[in-house]
Amino acid sequence: MSRIAYVAGQYLPHRQAAVHIEDRGFQFADGVYEVIAVVGGHLVDEALHIERLHRSLNELRIVPPIGDAALKIVIRETIRRNAVDTGIVYLQVTRGAAPREHAFPKSAKPTLVVTARRTKPPDPRLGEEGIAVITIPDIRWQRCDIKSVALVANVLGKQQAREASAYEAWQVDREGRITEGTSTNAWIVTMDDTVVTRAADTAILNGVTRLAVFDIIDREGYRLVERPFTVAEAKAAREAFLSSTTADLLPVVRIDGAPVGEGRPGRLTLKLRAAYFAHTAAA
Ligand code: PLP
Repeated sequence: MSRIAYVAGQYLPHRQAAVHIEDRGFQFADGVYEVIAVVGGHLVDEALHIERLHRSLNELRIVPPIGDAALKIVIRETIRRNAVDTGIVYLQVTRGAAPREHAFPKSAKPTLVVTARRTKPPDPRLGEEGIAVITIPDIRWQRCDIKSVALVANVLGKQQAREASAYEAWQVDREGRITEGTSTNAWIVTMDDTVVTRAADTAILNGVTRLAVFDIIDREGYRLVERPFTVAEAKAAREAFLSSTTADLLPVVRIDGAPVGEGRPGRLTLKLRAAYFAHTAAA
């Protein structure tokens, strides 16, 4: 079956789908995006993703190209045309195409792209055995709360992780505190079973998965503290894990080559992971 993409008002075969060479997304990374999971034909936390899309657009002063009702129809139609039962939807909105000049163009129409694709089930060993992360300096800009398409620092970080045979790179701010992964949020569980993750300041993206995990923690009566933690604290933690729409919730068992806790997925992490899967299945 050939894939179909929605590009600026049209459904087109994936191979032919394109934006203009002077699209500001291409020239300046002047745009934002969202990735929404599809599980069993249902969108997971769609409302939170759309809310965050609006927040990102608003911060960059890009006018939404279409209304929410129309956007939801386009998302569903793109899923349908690509026969996605389990997979992801990708949305991107840029400030549009205009002659290249840094300041906002007077009249550019924002570009909306929506794609959807099936994904293979993740390797079960990642959840059973846990994953390794490395730590790297956070070289990104100071508005990581905006889900901007300007991801080159994240790309370099993820590549560094790959080359170190690690799943993810946890980025570290100038004070030695972990901000987040290159495409995931970072968490630890302290020796007294408190779940810790950085507060959603401008140094991290407020993950939708992060918010879903907050709800689970609240419902299950676990302790949560939103505060920064250092690399040393993470290495000495009882458990660690990461979260995102595409990774779900994965136990972190090694940081810079050193085992976290007993070097196995933690008890609380596995409980949260199971509860998160129940949440996505019920979406
Ligand atoms: N942090 C960064 C930098 C990300 O790119 C992502 C997801 O792409 C996340 C965190 C996790 O966000 P979410 O749970 O909404 O997928």
